[in-house]
Amino acid sequence: MTATHPGLAQRVTRIQPSPSTAAAQRVRELRATGARIVDLTVGEPDFDTPEHVKTAAVEAIRRGDTKYTPVNGTPELRRAIAAKLARRHGLAVPDAHIAVGGGAKQVIFLALMATVNRGDEVIVPAPYWVSYPDMVLANDGTPVVVACPAEQGFKLTAGALRAAITSRTRWLVLNTPGNPTGASYTAAELGELAEVLLDHPHVRVLTDEIYDEIRYEPGTARTLVQVEPRLTDRVLITNGVSKTYAMTGWRIGYGAGAPDVVAAINKLQSQISSCPSSISQAAAVAALDGPQDFVDETVAAYRARRDETVKLIDDVPLLSCTPPDGGFYLFVDCAGTFGHRTPEGTTIRTDADFARYLLEAEQVAVIHGEAYGSPGYFRISFATADAVLAEACTRIARACAALTQEPS
Ligand code: PLP
Repeated sequence: MTATHPGLAQRVTRIQPSPSTAAAQRVRELRATGARIVDLTVGEPDFDTPEHVKTAAVEAIRRGDTKYTPVNGTPELRRAIAAKLARRHGLAVPDAHIAVGGGAKQVIFLALMATVNRGDEVIVPAPYWVSYPDMVLANDGTPVVVACPAEQGFKLTAGALRAAITSRTRWLVLNTPGNPTGASYTAAELGELAEVLLDHPHVRVLTDEIYDEIRYEPGTARTLVQVEPRLTDRVLITNGVSKTYAMTGWRIGYGAGAPDVVAAINKLQSQISSCPSSISQAAAVAALDGPQDFVDETVAAYRARRDETVKLIDDVPLLSCTPPDGGFYLFVDCAGTFGHRTPEGTTIRTDADFARYLLEAEQVAVIHGEAYGSPGYFRISFATADAVLAEACTRIARACAALTQEPS
């Protein structure tokens, strides 16, 4: 691959574009040709940003808050982030332990850039958010993918963690609630992982909590350092306003915790972007500090969609799914379709084949499980209108009904 891109650095040629971004682009291209695609690939809320948040941004512009801010974000935003962490987790995070970036994605990338040297290992439980392994690779590290099957609720066990740790391990990435499965770790499960981590002081933990407010099950809101305060200095919590407040385009995320990592993120940020947008930061303050009715209302809507979509998918022979604890995705088991033949005569052998078949036969766009390190599944986003979801499920059911078992 490097040979065909002689002018590019290996860190670029060894990674792939984000599969979710690529899928969204494919949908745009197909729509441009007139195809009526039902798009279930989208990883962002279909709701609009709350009005009071937009107003705060407009006021920031009018006030002239249109200049560089401190590298680590405005004091107001850092205060709002600290208040949120105190409110949600009872944590007292000092101001110097908070970094603000252009989305949680950027903060995670910078955290890896700040800590990973060539050959260092990062443990990534699968199914994983598509970006983790490539972010590790881009920073010269080695992703160590640990399969977490459905029978384990798609969660990392203490035993699997212990087996994956080596002297080269730098990080464990823990995403709760997770994308693509919605699986959330309970306090007891976090406690078991913490036991292992206490035995390995060279391992840091990045807990990606971007879906923390979008939860359907009680008792899954705890964060690792709440459960085991002795890990405080080596845990970096990453989060942001994108998903909770329908603010994906505003690009504000943050990292809180591990003070050496936060300082290094800020140092890198000072050379990379100076700071995130001043206007978006003002909007994020309003989101975090303002009324939270938007969150309650949208989570209620997601919950209704989750319940309905789980029911519709479970009614489809050949498919099954586990109801997610949080987030707005359903990770659907499609292994039952393998070995079946489409009306066009091709045989479904992989999740990619099934996703392609859905797109071609019924114009339903989903993302195949292998992109998340878990073949045999596909991901549906239910951050979309009820009618669209219902139509999508009808089409998926029709596509499955049209499959015939291959003669053995
Ligand atoms: N982490 C996970 C698990 C995600 O699913 C996403 C977005 O899809 C992000 C982080 C990035 O969020 P942000 O918009 O804050 O960069």
